[in-house]
Amino acid sequence: MRHVVITGGASGLGRVMAERFLSEGDRVAICDADPHAVLEFAGAHPDQIACVADVTDEAQMQTFFDQIDAGWVRVDVVCANAGIGGPAGRIEDLSLADWNRCIEVNLSGTFLICRWAARRMRAAGQGLIVLTSSTAGQFGYPLRSPYATAKWGIVGLTKTLAMELGPAGVRVNAICPGAVEGDRMDRVVAMEAAASGKSHDEVRALYVKGVSLRSWVTAEDVADTVSWLASPQAKRISGQILAIDGHTETLTP
Ligand code: NAD
Repeated sequence: MRHVVITGGASGLGRVMAERFLSEGDRVAICDADPHAVLEFAGAHPDQIACVADVTDEAQMQTFFDQIDAGWVRVDVVCANAGIGGPAGRIEDLSLADWNRCIEVNLSGTFLICRWAARRMRAAGQGLIVLTSSTAGQFGYPLRSPYATAKWGIVGLTKTLAMELGPAGVRVNAICPGAVEGDRMDRVVAMEAAASGKSHDEVRALYVKGVSLRSWVTAEDVADTVSWLASPQAKRISGQILAIDGHTETLTP
């Protein structure tokens, strides 16, 4: 049985990851900024740890860490998953506040969880950190400059932490999901359609056009990869940036 921590774990991809680990017999601790989603998760899984915490808020995250430290003797897997889409638009039209919040949640929001994980995993001589980047962390992404910038930052952080923690036996990898079917991409498509003047269907078609397998991704596809990374079969996999996207050729929204 593994002990797995997931940020942004009450809904979306983080929730699907949490359900996958639970189905494999693991214990899970999630935090999420959405109190309703946390309440729902806690109701569904009363034996697991569920905490309302914003990944960018040090005091809230400390409360989350204190709960884990009080209940668990070790942590095996940490998924730094929480993220937001940020604004869509040409850089000329973006506000500094929107830019800052996007970088804050998607990039700086991984700092506290990675620091906590690194301290515990280095001391234990084992562990896996999975950071969630995106296809946006592998290509330029017109109209989404703050998001692309944050997700490229995740790649640099992953490579660096893999080097810092590898000698202590800790693995660090990033996953890069493509466009995942679900609420979040519905919101992103609506935002990009408004910013570009294209219809929703045109924006959706463009996502598939740039993908070799000509398909969107499911949350289960992402959970499959995270589950594999946490398995013994991936014990030599570290410092890798794993795309789960059907092979992206180009991003052209
Ligand atoms: P989502 O919006 O469906 O879920 C994100 C979850 O994170 C929500 O429960 C939300 O409340 C929580 N959250 C948001 N900001 C938070 C904060 N500051 N602190 C704590 N929790 C916070 O999004 P998702 O699709 O599940 O995205 C999860 C991760 O995957 C993100 O990092 C996202 O950038 C990345 N990603 C998603 C896609 C996609 O197509 N959905 C593609 C590539 C990468």
